[in-house]
Amino acid sequence: MIGVEVAEGENTVNTAPTTVEVFASCLRHAMDGRGLKQADLIRMAADRGSKLGKSQVSQYVSGKTLPRRAVVQLLADILEIEPFELTGESWAAEYESMPAPAPAARAKSAGPAALAPATADGAPALAPATPDGAAAPATSAFIPSSPAMSDPPGRAEARPAAAFPELRTFAGRSTSSSHSEGNIMSENTRTFKKSSKLDNVLYDVRGPVVDEAARLESEGAHILKLNIGNPAPFGFRTPYEVIQDMREQLPECEGYSDSRGLFSARKAIMQYAQLKGLPNVSMDGIYTGNGVSELINLCMQALLDTGDEILIPSPDYPLWTACATLAGGTPVHYRCDEQADWNPDLADMEAKITPRTKAIVIINPNNPTGAVYAKEVLEGIVEIARKHQLMIFADEIYDRLCMDDAEHVSIASLAPDLFCVTFSGLSKSHMIAGYRIGWMIVSGNKRLGEDFMLGVNMLSNMRLCSNVPAQSIVQTALGGHQSVKSYVAPGGRVCEQRNYVYEALNAIDGITAVKPKAAFYIFPKMDVKKFNIRDDEQFALDLLHQKGILITRGGGFNWPEPDHFRIVYLPPMDVLHEAMEDLAEFFETYRQR
Ligand code: PLP
Repeated sequence: MIGVEVAEGENTVNTAPTTVEVFASCLRHAMDGRGLKQADLIRMAADRGSKLGKSQVSQYVSGKTLPRRAVVQLLADILEIEPFELTGESWAAEYESMPAPAPAARAKSAGPAALAPATADGAPALAPATPDGAAAPATSAFIPSSPAMSDPPGRAEARPAAAFPELRTFAGRSTSSSHSEGNIMSENTRTFKKSSKLDNVLYDVRGPVVDEAARLESEGAHILKLNIGNPAPFGFRTPYEVIQDMREQLPECEGYSDSRGLFSARKAIMQYAQLKGLPNVSMDGIYTGNGVSELINLCMQALLDTGDEILIPSPDYPLWTACATLAGGTPVHYRCDEQADWNPDLADMEAKITPRTKAIVIINPNNPTGAVYAKEVLEGIVEIARKHQLMIFADEIYDRLCMDDAEHVSIASLAPDLFCVTFSGLSKSHMIAGYRIGWMIVSGNKRLGEDFMLGVNMLSNMRLCSNVPAQSIVQTALGGHQSVKSYVAPGGRVCEQRNYVYEALNAIDGITAVKPKAAFYIFPKMDVKKFNIRDDEQFALDLLHQKGILITRGGGFNWPEPDHFRIVYLPPMDVLHEAMEDLAEFFETYRQR
């Protein structure tokens, strides 16, 4: 093994902040992706016979110093990525601008193991190497020759620059001033970086693998999207009556509404809450939002101070974790147990409560597992919340999509003495996702949350109101005939598709899946030993490149092991047949490299 000796402070280059900050951001991203801490980098470098100093690593991570090329290569090796993923495609240019190392140091540090642009598994990189060993821009590396996917790509292709959109700023530009494409870039040019608040925020449902799928599509590939629960593209259409009612009311929807929402919408929501048994609900405790998404964010902002903890399921719908993090809170994940039909592990939940814990989030019916919690489980959660004086947030956006004998119980109906906020909307249970309408209902002992509600009101007023045309159809959608009922009944589209996908997945050697009881997702488990899977994002990219199928990796739902993925089973049966056949074929030979 040829070591890279990199004493602290030696051969580092201070460059314009933009470049070092991009490097630092990419380094943190890659470390987070692999769950590595700074100490791990130091230890793993030592395993490779190279020395990295503590303050040196800290400087790279905090964006104070840009390492020289041999160190970039070392870090990339440790992180099992390509160097350009840390530096952007301007690596070669950046390197040229660094002072040349002293000949002795160069000889020592620039050995083949340190600088050869080999892939992580030792195969030659597909991106051609430049004479000085720097990788060529990755964007030229993979252009599928036909929509039918062929060979799996190497790592250089598999983790494209598209995964790090900010790097595009630097693509193909030199460090000297240039006016090409109307842009001026020089070493001292100020560019704009995303806020560090986003460093730990994850939303893979529309994340880097989706960016890669978009890139492939732009090159003519056909991608089957099993990654997002968007019913309309799969033929689940809004009932005509709803469209007709919106059309008629449109001229009345030009102005802002009350910030909580139209009276007619809130009245219909209140009546629905009464039918679900929610205690102590009043019109002033009902808020409409631009989807449940907006209201999740609003509540997290209103509740959490820096360091406040909130219990969120793992796996989760990742927006909860993202919004809690953005609000400065600390999401603490309690485990849902696959062996127990993905029900929450109540012992784990309770064990994770600390004096800083403020609330428990439950997602029932659950995305991504499709679980529906039994009344006894919900009573157990209420008991924990009661004992530790916690608020309950219940995301029940899939409540009308229960199958078989599963009956949905609103947790708030079991907790009249606690402060509960229940979320729902038209996106899923009514399959009308694009109009953007959701709501939240405050119930139970409202005195406990009086001050929190002042915050909610302030934030609700600040966004003025939610989309008024969409509010105008809530009454129509919530009342009368419910077309979704026929989808989830035996013989209905969603129910039959669920049955088929469940059977087909379990027939694949190395794959097991719990049968979902609601919604339109399934969360299968992969035998990681059999498939040698260590990185679920890599698995998702491999599946995308080989079969043109886009799924969401389990890690995207804050699931800690790389052994699950989520499939949306909304596409029609013939498409699902094809997808399952392709999937079976893929797993027949797949071994992660
Ligand atoms: N909550 C859960 C559990 C979801 O799965 C989703 C979307 O997939 C949302 C909330 C967001 O819904 P909306 O379209 O109302 O913003």
